[in-house]
Amino acid sequence: MSIIVAIANEKGGVAKTTTTLSLGAALVETGLEVLLLDLDAQANLSMALGIDSAKVGKSMVSSLLESLPLQDAVIETGIPNLDIVPSTAEMGLVERYLPIRSQYEQVLAQSLAANHWKYDFILMDCPPFLGATTTNALMAANLLIMPTQAEFFSINALRSMMALVRKIRTQGNPQLTYRLLLTLYDRRNRIHRTMSEQLRATFGIGVLDTIIEVDTRLRESSIAGLPIIFHSPKTRAALQYRALAQEILVYVKETDRQPA
Ligand code: ADP
Ligand code: MG
Repeated sequence: MSIIVAIANEKGGVAKTTTTLSLGAALVETGLEVLLLDLDAQANLSMALGIDSAKVGKSMVSSLLESLPLQDAVIETGIPNLDIVPSTAEMGLVERYLPIRSQYEQVLAQSLAANHWKYDFILMDCPPFLGATTTNALMAANLLIMPTQAEFFSINALRSMMALVRKIRTQGNPQLTYRLLLTLYDRRNRIHRTMSEQLRATFGIGVLDTIIEVDTRLRESSIAGLPIIFHSPKTRAALQYRALAQEILVYVKETDRQPA
């Protein structure tokens, strides 16, 4: 069984896409097979892998709105063992048309369940709002990773994420667990230090030990169309995303969900 991970937060710019890509690459580097699902109409994840979303034929939209089997929309990224179902601008239509279907919250979970995947992990990059798409991702997920900055408004935004997690647990995915991931962290910033301490005091083990610090090489790597792990393997961000992969692997072992 694949381990299905949603990377979501209703705030934009908190490193959801960067985390999906970098964690995926770090897992692949350990010898695992990973599928990425780009669920955002902005298609940043697809673009970061050099995929021109305007030229994509089959995509997440084909699967969610046109009932194309998900496996038929999978494409290779050029990085061995890392595949993706890309997004297109039409992904915006999902928010409007998916809710017309009955039990629309389960569409993605069902299309994932309809295939026997070879992947150890399936990572889903969610859009920056809590609509039909994010709901579908959370219904399908074993684990939610919430990238968050150590700033007041980011921490405030977690409230609505938490409310959604509770709703998803009662409405069809009782096993859903979550972990917060501190991103874009600046050690020299006193507010960041205070806020991260508060987060740990409030959420305890709900906060991952790994912290992703600000690293400008991440911007360069997305321009280069390569995950940081492969673009600049020795930079701080590469090391920290590798540490995140290890922490997730330990977590998965402890919760007894062995990779495929
Ligand atoms: P989201 O998907 O949540 O909107 P992104 O992953 O697109 O966020 O990140 C937003 C911006 O911040 C991007 O330009 C990205 O390259 C940059 N970024 C992400 N993480 C870091 C980091 N650790 N250090 C520096 N820049 C980062
Ligand atoms: Mg994004």
